[in-house]
Amino acid sequence: TGDTTRSDIEPTVEVNLDVHVAHSARMYDFYLGGTTNFAPDREAAAHALAVFPWARSAARANRAFMHRSTRALAEAGIRQFLDIGTGIPTSPNLHEIAQRIAPQSRVVYADNDPIVLTHAQHLLHSAPEGRTAYVHADVREPESVLSAARELLDFSRPIALSLNAILHFVPDTAATGAHRLVEAFKAELPPGSALVVSHATQDFAPEDIARVEQVYANAGTPVQARTREEFARLFSGWELLDPGVAATPRWRPDETSAAEPVADAEAACYGAVALRR
Ligand code: SAH
Repeated sequence: TGDTTRSDIEPTVEVNLDVHVAHSARMYDFYLGGTTNFAPDREAAAHALAVFPWARSAARANRAFMHRSTRALAEAGIRQFLDIGTGIPTSPNLHEIAQRIAPQSRVVYADNDPIVLTHAQHLLHSAPEGRTAYVHADVREPESVLSAARELLDFSRPIALSLNAILHFVPDTAATGAHRLVEAFKAELPPGSALVVSHATQDFAPEDIARVEQVYANAGTPVQARTREEFARLFSGWELLDPGVAATPRWRPDETSAAEPVADAEAACYGAVALRR
């Protein structure tokens, strides 16, 4: 339409990289085999791997769920994406997947970790027909995420909101329960929109996951795994797409996921996609 501008990285955001304590984004990057991590991240990740040796497979299965769910929604005609808790850029990123199917796709990324901000230029290499933007913002402040997203996305047309592997970093407290946050986002999305979530669960390996929660708590990054019922409630009022709530490797597996099978207890995450009718 020509009336939207490409939001660039806010030059006023103060980048304060604390490389002395572990961060979830950098631990996840380590599991994925990335190089954007520091000694405390690798140390905490080593503790997690000691109690849960499948952390790498879990991270890869989660990332692959992002690939497949994005592809499915792009193929279904969605052209606008809001991805909160983007993580350190890891190719292919969400916009690359969506724009391979529809180059005009618009993607707004948001994360609150300064390390993601410092690497955000990788997220801004949009196809010329489309647009991407990066917002340094906290999912616990839906209004600030939404008002930034409105600069690029048309909230009268369907939007796919993805919250992949982020909500387990939002424990239920009086102020910011994950469910209340998700409802605040859902309320702003028009009919035809989609909600994509992946989330750690204790259901397949309760003792392992209790130990992982302990490792993350010790590293200063509390994690709250959620049960199938708690996960499913994030989608309430919206229509779950086939196959409904599934362990991430079992959500519409493709040739790639079939070639690298991951057991439910190794993935330790649920994934699902729902539509607002
Ligand atoms: N969504 C990506 C990356 C998951 S890693 C994927 O599934 O592959 C989790 C990300 O959530 C990290 O980058 C971390 O910085 C981010 N995150 C955690 N808490 C957050 C919060 N309160 N607000 C915004 N981002 C957050």
